[in-house]
Amino acid sequence: MAERTTSGVTERVIAWRREFHARPELGFAEERTAARVAEILRGWGYTPRTGVGRTGVVAELVGGGGPGPTVLLRADMDALPVQEETDLPFASQTPGVMHACGHDAHTAILLGAAEVLAARAARLPGRVVFCFQPNEEATVGALAMINDGLLSDPPVDYALGLHVQSLTPTGEIHVSPGPVMASCREFDITIHGRGGHAAHPERTVDPVVVAAHVLTALQTIVSRNLAAREVGVVSVGHLRAGHIRNVIPETAELSGTLRCYDPEIGERLAARVTQLAEQLAAGFGARATLRFSEPVPPVVNDARLAEIVATAAAEVVGAAGVHEQEPSLGGEDFSQLASRVPGCFFFVGAGASEPERNYPHHHPRFWLDEASFELALRTLVGAAERVLAGG
Ligand SMILES: [Zn+2]
Ligand SMILES: [Zn+2]
Repeated sequence: MAERTTSGVTERVIAWRREFHARPELGFAEERTAARVAEILRGWGYTPRTGVGRTGVVAELVGGGGPGPTVLLRADMDALPVQEETDLPFASQTPGVMHACGHDAHTAILLGAAEVLAARAARLPGRVVFCFQPNEEATVGALAMINDGLLSDPPVDYALGLHVQSLTPTGEIHVSPGPVMASCREFDITIHGRGGHAAHPERTVDPVVVAAHVLTALQTIVSRNLAAREVGVVSVGHLRAGHIRNVIPETAELSGTLRCYDPEIGERLAARVTQLAEQLAAGFGARATLRFSEPVPPVVNDARLAEIVATAAAEVVGAAGVHEQEPSLGGEDFSQLASRVPGCFFFVGAGASEPERNYPHHHPRFWLDEASFELALRTLVGAAERVLAGG
């Protein structure tokens, strides 16, 4: 690849991010984003592969500095079904869809890394795989790419990824060894009763009442079935039954999510949800059927890679800017990579100094400080170069 200057890369990263922000696309629909990513990569001399894991893009850089490991750098590209309420000049032009998690920034930062590393290719050992992943929000995109050969063609030795954080100040980078993001597993419970007139409940089996008991009983799982030192969450975010005040419906549905760091605890949570739903329903003369998604593993950072990222981050933000990463019970399917090869996922502060600008991720007014992008880019590139050079 031709040696080229990378001055102005930060400005380009910001411009790409604004472009992606204005045209957000939902998971597995990142057609325009993927095409644009591939177009930019071709401009640096890459030969990107598109359609990996449906809408993912992969590009490979073979260093001219001799043999070395292969390190994969991953960004996610998908937006959320959120109606944007910011007054940004580059706000979403697509009604009901918004980059409210910062994946637009991740995509732009990884493009910047691809530009910088291409310029240094002649002296880099090993290889770099740039992975632009679809559909992180449903935690299914990484696995789709792995099933399309992401980790085997070429064989990947290490994986690095980052997430910008709107509620963490710019200038802070958080990284730790061990578990940093939770395992998550979704569930749907359907209570099958017998519907009828609300004036004659004795002729029905009321699934609404059963659902209320199940919902309440699920709250005892964490408090009564986990030890105080064990970490787990059971949340029901969606409850639906019936249409009108005076009709008892046939069914009621509860949908929720299980979170933990330890797969054994995940199994225990799922077993208790099943037992409580089925047996409470039976006690009321109803029947419960359950559906669980495949568990997404927790993100567990490799200790050596976490050390390398912390060293690279300290060069960018100073030792005082590097913090321990508080484990989150959020899910993140970078874990599909990090459970197969040593990986490290770190957080880059992108919050403003004015608190009124800061909103949580997935909020309609979600906002990122673009000054954080250069810090993310330099940390990612610095960490990748250290991994390639053997740490
Ligand atoms: Zn998100
Ligand atoms: Zn995200």
